Amino acid sequence: MSAIDPQASTKPMIAIDNISKWYGPVQVLNGCTTQVTKGEVVVVCGPSGSGKSTLIKTVNALEPIQKGAITVDGIGVQAKGTNLPKLRARVGMVFQHFELFPHLSIIDNLMLGQCKVLGRAKDDAHDRGLKLLGRVGLSAHSHKYPGQLSGGQQQRVAIARALSMNPIVMLFDEPTSALDPEMVGEVLDVMIELAREGMTMMVVTHEMGFARKVANRVVFMDRGEIVEDATKDDFFDKPRSERAQTFLSKIL
Ligand code: ADP
Ligand code: MG
Repeated sequence: MSAIDPQASTKPMIAIDNISKWYGPVQVLNGCTTQVTKGEVVVVCGPSGSGKSTLIKTVNALEPIQKGAITVDGIGVQAKGTNLPKLRARVGMVFQHFELFPHLSIIDNLMLGQCKVLGRAKDDAHDRGLKLLGRVGLSAHSHKYPGQLSGGQQQRVAIARALSMNPIVMLFDEPTSALDPEMVGEVLDVMIELAREGMTMMVVTHEMGFARKVANRVVFMDRGEIVEDATKDDFFDKPRSERAQTFLSKIL
């Protein structure tokens, strides 16, 4: 490939191509196809059990698929020979539960992956960690332990930790749904800023205010299928399917 690629800006950062997945006999993803281009923010929504978490986990191979293909930045996620730890390092993931290491200080949580996976020197990892803590408004908390922080603060640390690996895309799975209501805003604000800085993001959330503010597209799932994949305005203003209409009428 030449150094200057005229298609670079339109190439998908994430390409999900007709994927299906079963848990034993139960099919949970059925022929799902969608793409996320560089700098795009795609919100994934749909009823509980529709396959949102499963779909997003397939992107960094936390869940295997039985049919179809997924590429991240052109790298086949299931392809033989793909270095999964390396791929996962480039795909930041933030879950509903923050999953920080409870026995490590905040700064150590931020340094661990940088040192172990990326091989960064401690000083470098420490500096980058502190900068990221500043970015999520938590500079003063670097030596505390996760248990000393509120849920909203811990989730902001989890976002900073994912960013410390210099991801090319960020995946979020209901990052605010385990939080007390008064802490949702501070986490969404960090995500909104990230979106505005041009991060490529795939976000499972029911926060439709967030979707309206920063999403480019909305993917609506039901029973393992992508039922709608529309621009934000089309999805909210004229959802095509009855299933999406029903879903929206319940949550808006
Ligand atoms: P959502 O995130 O939209 O709520 P999930 O992706 O978590 O949906 O789940 C999709 C379906 O897969 C559900 O029917 C769920 O019960 C099932 N499922 C999820 N994880 C497992 C698992 N580890 N084993 C068996 N079934 C699972
Ligand atoms: Mg889920």
